[in-house]
Amino acid sequence: MAVIGVLALQGDFAEHIKLLETIGVEATEVRLSDDLRKIQALIIPGGESTTIVQLMDAFDLTAEINRLVKEGMPTWGTCAGMIVLAREITEDRPKPLGLMDIRVRRNAFGRQVDSFEADVSVPVLGEKPFPAVFIRAPAIEEMGPDVEPLANLNGHGVIAARQGNVMVTAFHPELTQDQRFHAYFLSMVSGS
Ligand code: GLN
Repeated sequence: MAVIGVLALQGDFAEHIKLLETIGVEATEVRLSDDLRKIQALIIPGGESTTIVQLMDAFDLTAEINRLVKEGMPTWGTCAGMIVLAREITEDRPKPLGLMDIRVRRNAFGRQVDSFEADVSVPVLGEKPFPAVFIRAPAIEEMGPDVEPLANLNGHGVIAARQGNVMVTAFHPELTQDQRFHAYFLSMVSGS
C-alpha cells in the first residue's frame, strides 16, 4: 500500500497524518531528503509559507521535491502548501516552486481574525457540500488552461484545483472530520 508523506517542517502536518491514519492509510513525516525515498505521495500542509520554503531549502529538500513532483508524484498543497506549489505569487516572498500553473495571492481573505468556515460544493466529492475551513487563506488569481477547478467560493473564484498529479486547496480539510478530500487524494495516488 502507498505511503503518504507529509512535509513536517512547520505547520499543521500532524493533523494530516492523524486524518490519514483514521482512514487506514500509512502516513509518515518528511523532514530529510532520505524520507522522500519512502513515500509515494506528498502533502504540503498549511502553516507559514515563507518559513516552509526557507526550511525546505535549509534541509536540502527543494530540488528533490521538484524532481519527484515533475516526475508525477501525487502532491497536494493545503493553504500555505498551495502557495509553495504555485507558479507565481502576488507578493515578493516566498519564492514558490512553480509546480502548478496558478498565480496565488497570500492572505487574500483578510487576517487571522477573519478565518471562517464555508460549506462549498466540490463536484468530485459528490453532492454533499464540504465544510471548508479558511485560515488566512490564499486565493487563486489566475490559472493556466491545464488547471481543472475543483471548487469555487462565491465572489472569490477557484479555491481548489488540480493539474494532473498536483492538487491544491486554499482551505484545510485536515481540520475537519470530513475525510472525503483525503480519500480523493488517495484515488490520485492509486491512479483510479
Ligand atoms: N497566510 C499563510 C501564508 O501566507 C498561510 C496560512 C495557512 O496555511 N493557514 O503562508
